[in-house]
Amino acid sequence: MQIHLSFDHELFFGANTGTLEKCILEPTQLLMELAEKNNIPLIFFVDAGYLVQLKENSKHSRCKDDLEKISAQLVKLSAAGHQIALHVHPHWEDCKFVDDKWIIDTKRYKLSDFSKEDASKIISKYNKALFDITGRKCTAYRAGGWCIHPFSLIKETLKENGITIDSSVYFKGYHDSPAHFYDFRTAKDKAEWKFENDPCKEDNSGSFKEITITPDKIGPVFYWDLYLKMKSAPEKYKPLGDGMWLKDKGRIYKQFHSSTDHFACADGYFSSRLINNLEQCEQKKFERMMVLSHPKSLAPCSFEYLKEFIAFAKQRGHQFTILN
Ligand SMILES: [Zn+2]
Repeated sequence: MQIHLSFDHELFFGANTGTLEKCILEPTQLLMELAEKNNIPLIFFVDAGYLVQLKENSKHSRCKDDLEKISAQLVKLSAAGHQIALHVHPHWEDCKFVDDKWIIDTKRYKLSDFSKEDASKIISKYNKALFDITGRKCTAYRAGGWCIHPFSLIKETLKENGITIDSSVYFKGYHDSPAHFYDFRTAKDKAEWKFENDPCKEDNSGSFKEITITPDKIGPVFYWDLYLKMKSAPEKYKPLGDGMWLKDKGRIYKQFHSSTDHFACADGYFSSRLINNLEQCEQKKFERMMVLSHPKSLAPCSFEYLKEFIAFAKQRGHQFTILN
């Protein structure tokens, strides 16, 4: 099996975005060290709208400095053999930098909140911002907040940009909130397929490949346990990032009261489930396992569990790879 450790490389989008250092640079540096020790490549889905905004606001010294720092790290990641892929959070179009901080506006959180013409321009502009830094073309995409629908909005633009792999879909994923909308309930429980017009629908003559995020059904006991662990040992379980998530009370209520459809993830204590996630992939005879995490949400325990997971997977004969 090919195992992909992917990280959505971004700030927080709630009332406080957190700092570049704590949310991105420091945890990504720790990931690079872990990858080097284990001789494995990682995949970073980089929130390129943030790079565009840093450049547009470079009259502010902090934005100029942050752009230099994040660019240097992206160049370093790319040179070390890690994959840089495109992650699009279009609400950056409406964000402003005032009094040394980002004012985040999520009224238009997903690309479907924009016209087709504007959505195309956003994809091309964000993709170019990444290329200008790394000098390498992206071939893979992940929609911000999983909001990939409707794919018709961006299909041609992705093709024009040479992007033919998507990794936004996870089995049974569904969410409808003021900011988000996605519905993967028609997708099959498979690791990959080809598609053309709908990433949830297999089409063997399609020009795109969907590499799904490995699913994980999680019961409420896990969330209660996580809550208690964060309270009793925050130094081990609390995320390294210093920002706040976009508020989503409905989702939190569901997680504490019923089983919810989630995905394989190394964020915080979720990382304790990775070995079990892998065993499920083995049972289903999957060709791939895709783990979705965020540098901002990794906790000290994540690195311990990741270390154990990598050793376990290697011992079972699996390979860590980038997307192809
Ligand atoms: Zn994201």
